Amino acid sequence: MLSDTIAAVSTAVGEGGIAIIRVSGPDAVAEVGRLMRSRTPLPEAASHTVQYGHIVDPQGGEVMEEVLVTVMRAPRSFTMEDVVEISTHGGVISVRRVMDLLLQQRIRLAEPGEFTKRAFLNGRIDLSQAEAVMDLIRSKSDRAFSVALKQVGGSLSQQIAALRQTLLETLAHIEVNIDYPEHDVEALTAEYIKTRCTEVTEGIDRLLKSAQQGKILREGITTAIVGRPNVGKSSLLNALARENKAIVTDIPGTTRDVIEEYVTINHIPLRLLDTAGIRETMDLVEQIGVERSKAAFGEADLVLLVLNASEPLHDDELELMEQIRGRQALVILNKMDLPSALDRAELTRRFGEEAIVPMSVLQEQGLDKLEEAISSLFLGGKLESGDLTYVSNVRHIALLKKARQSLRDAYDAAEQLIPIDMIQIDVRLAWEQLGEIVGDTAADSLLDQIFSQFCLGK
Ligand code: GDP
Ligand code: ZN
Repeated sequence: MLSDTIAAVSTAVGEGGIAIIRVSGPDAVAEVGRLMRSRTPLPEAASHTVQYGHIVDPQGGEVMEEVLVTVMRAPRSFTMEDVVEISTHGGVISVRRVMDLLLQQRIRLAEPGEFTKRAFLNGRIDLSQAEAVMDLIRSKSDRAFSVALKQVGGSLSQQIAALRQTLLETLAHIEVNIDYPEHDVEALTAEYIKTRCTEVTEGIDRLLKSAQQGKILREGITTAIVGRPNVGKSSLLNALARENKAIVTDIPGTTRDVIEEYVTINHIPLRLLDTAGIRETMDLVEQIGVERSKAAFGEADLVLLVLNASEPLHDDELELMEQIRGRQALVILNKMDLPSALDRAELTRRFGEEAIVPMSVLQEQGLDKLEEAISSLFLGGKLESGDLTYVSNVRHIALLKKARQSLRDAYDAAEQLIPIDMIQIDVRLAWEQLGEIVGDTAADSLLDQIFSQFCLGK
C-alpha cells in the first residue's frame, strides 16, 4: 500500500491567493517532473528547494498552470517519503487542472488523513501525535493550539513511554521470579509490584487530572447567563465580549451559519451561543419561564446567575438557585453602584463566599473578579503552569482509565498474595492499554477509524 504515490489539495477549497497540492510517495518527483517545465528538471532539483515553472499537459503540450514546486526528498519530509508540494494560483479551476493531470499519471487521490497516516506508519510520529495534528487544525483558542502543538512535538508520548518503561521493568522483574519461585521471594515481589503499580497509577492520575482542563481548552466552557429580566444579563454579555475579543469564528468570508461564539478569558475559551442563541439563553426566564429553564441549563458547563443587588430576592430567583444547586455556578451581584437591598449573608450560606461576584457592569467594575473566579473554578487558578501536558482526547482518556483499573487489579492481587503469574497478566494489560494510546498496540481497524476523521489533504 505504501508503494503508491498519492496526491490531494492541502489548502482549503475555494478562492485564495495560492493553493497547495501535496504529492507523496516513491514516484512523486518523477511523475510531477514529467508534467513540469522548469529551468532545472525536477528530478535534478536538490531536496528542500523551490522551482519556478509551468505545468504542461504531456499530450499536446498545453500550458495548464504557472507554479512554484517544492521538492522534499525522503526521509526529510512530513511523510518520510518523497514529497512534492505544488503551489498554484488559488482558484478552483487552477487546482482542478493540475489535479486532473496528476491523477492521469501514476498517482492516485489520497484518502482523508492519508498523509498523516503515512507519517505514522513510517514511524515519524506516533498515534497520539497524529491525533494532535487533527486537534491543531480544529483548535478554537490560542491555548488549545499550543497544547496540541506540544502534543505533536511528543510531550504526551514521552510521558506514556516513561510509564510503560516502568511497567516493562516490573514485568521483567516478575519474569525472573517466576523462574525462581521460592516463597519469600514471592512476598518481596508482591511488595515490589505494589510500589511500581502505585507509581504508575499516580502518573496516570496526573494525566487524567489534566483531562478536564484539556477538554475546556479544546471545546470551551459552555456558559449560560441566566436571571430575571433587567438584572443586566445582556449588559454583562456585551461587557465580556468587549473586553475579550471573540476569535476564530468571525473570519470574514467564512460561512456565517456558525452557531457558536468564543470569548477568551485568561486563556479559557467560553463558548457562548451566537446572537440568536445568546438572546434565547439570556432571556430564558422571560421567554420560557423558570419551570423550563432547567433543561436549557442542562448543556451548560457553567451557569452565571445574575441578580440585581438593589432589589430583594425574588421567588423566581430562589427557584433558579434550587435548580443550579450542584452545578458549576457563579452568582453575580450586579448593580452594586445602587444602594444594596440583598441579603448577602443568605447567599454566602448557599453558595460560599468564593462563588459570589459583586459587580457593576454599568460602571465596568468587577469584571476582572469574574474572570478570576471563572479561571479558579475551572483550572484551580493555575493554568499558567505552561509545562503541563493536557490530555484532551476521549480515546486517550478511556485508555488511561482502563490502564488505571488494570493496575488496581494487579495491586489488589499482589496484596492478597495471589500467584505472581496471575498478577503479571494485569500488569501486561496495563502496558498494552497505554501502548494503544501511542499506537504501539493498536489494531488496524482503529487506525483506519482515526485517520478517516481527518480532512482531505492532511
Ligand atoms: P437583562 O434584561 O437582564 O438582559 O438586562 P440588561 O442588560 O438589558 O439591563 C437592564 C437595565 O439595567 C439596563 O438599563 C442597564 O443599563 C441596567 N444596568 C445593567 N447593569 C447595571 C449596573 O451595574 N448598574 C446599574 N445601575 N444599572 C445597570
Ligand atoms: Zn437581555
